[in-house]
Amino acid sequence: MERQNAWKKYKGKQLKEIESLAKSYKDFLNNGKTERECVKTSIAMAKDAGYKDLAEIIKKGKKLVPGDKVYAVNMGKAVALFNIGTQKLEKGINILGAHIDSPRMDVKQNPLYEDSELAYLDTHYYGGIKKYQWVAIPLAIHGVVVKKNGDVVNVVIGEDKNDPVVFISDLLIHLAADQLEKKAGKVIEGEALDIIVGSKPLEGEEKDAVKANVLKLLKKKYDMEEEDFLSAELEIVPAGDARDAGIDESMIMAYGQDDRVCAYTSLKAFLDVENVKKTACCLLVDKEEIGSVGATGMRSRFFENTLAEIINLTEEYSDIKLRRALAASRMLSSDVSAGYDPSYASCFDKKNASFLGRGIVFNKFTGSRGKSGSNDANAEYMADIRKILDEQSVSFQTAELGKVDVGGGGTIAYILSLYGMEVIDCGVAVLNMHAPWEVTSKVDIYEAKRGYEAFIRFA
Ligand SMILES: [Zn+2]
Repeated sequence: MERQNAWKKYKGKQLKEIESLAKSYKDFLNNGKTERECVKTSIAMAKDAGYKDLAEIIKKGKKLVPGDKVYAVNMGKAVALFNIGTQKLEKGINILGAHIDSPRMDVKQNPLYEDSELAYLDTHYYGGIKKYQWVAIPLAIHGVVVKKNGDVVNVVIGEDKNDPVVFISDLLIHLAADQLEKKAGKVIEGEALDIIVGSKPLEGEEKDAVKANVLKLLKKKYDMEEEDFLSAELEIVPAGDARDAGIDESMIMAYGQDDRVCAYTSLKAFLDVENVKKTACCLLVDKEEIGSVGATGMRSRFFENTLAEIINLTEEYSDIKLRRALAASRMLSSDVSAGYDPSYASCFDKKNASFLGRGIVFNKFTGSRGKSGSNDANAEYMADIRKILDEQSVSFQTAELGKVDVGGGGTIAYILSLYGMEVIDCGVAVLNMHAPWEVTSKVDIYEAKRGYEAFIRFA
């Protein structure tokens, strides 16, 4: 049962559409290297499509009617959008969910120090990374510094052509005999992921003059003091834009495609649909890479609370209506899948692997070593989904993440399935997942967007 390569379906106008979607996706990636930046970009896109801030509607005491479109923001790091349908909410809603946080390094709260006339920022990595991949490459600093008076200063260093970049040093090969004997997980230790940010001493300063100079520059550019690091969220990410990959320009190489490739295609598909029978929701959440924890992760009550607000604004609220709405809902929980890599063939079951170019990937279950931690989607639900996709000629494939006993991974699917709703994992195949530069296929991005749109229209 082999699935066809989706490129074979397309020519002319459709190839142009694939290219134009790829271009807007690359723009989304370039503007959104943190969850906060992704939320900002998503809200701008939603506003362009006529979406209104739910908080404003609640404040003004307005009601919602079919055709209304609203968004709710959770602490600037997660967002839920709703397109109100004609059917009662108790009948359930159609949800497209994805996460907008990506593996990276976070700056510690007391980060700045000087050693041997080099200034460093100390970091704590976020999510699963192969630490050795993050040294000796150009890095950028993205985030916010919040002052005691509440002012939020946005920081982006390393993306503009004229900006400096920062970096983590690696040991030269000539002295690396001992280092190369170490296991890959230990070659670079977590505590060694310190970013070099300066080497020039401040004139007239005796002690820690390089650090003093960095602080002077931060004061000048961002009006920040050293103590302001205490209330900052600064994320260290690979510097530079998303690029086409391959001589045939069939792929995209970029940072943060896990899971922004699903977030962007979900959002784009969601915004492209106007009037719906069943209320539609697009849910973009934070903290998936560290277990969906915290107020902005999927395990928080944000989604449930927002749906309660929506019920309250469309009809008389009751708890049973909310419970029924949740249990009757359907969701595509979208996260990336491991694309089959011939160079590492032994880690995959080729019959049950996802391939670049074969369309949107469905994982009936994720989890690891005996389905542990997985949401195992119902066969009945999968049957409905494949019917919809076949009717709309959307290319899709099914896969598991690697061989049974090799590893695995989690997504947000199991959290929403706790409400009793139908949830299945799906997404886009990625090469180099969780590396600084991840790779996807343009045709898969196109098929994902088409698949999500079909789900919102017909599920
Ligand atoms: Zn991930």
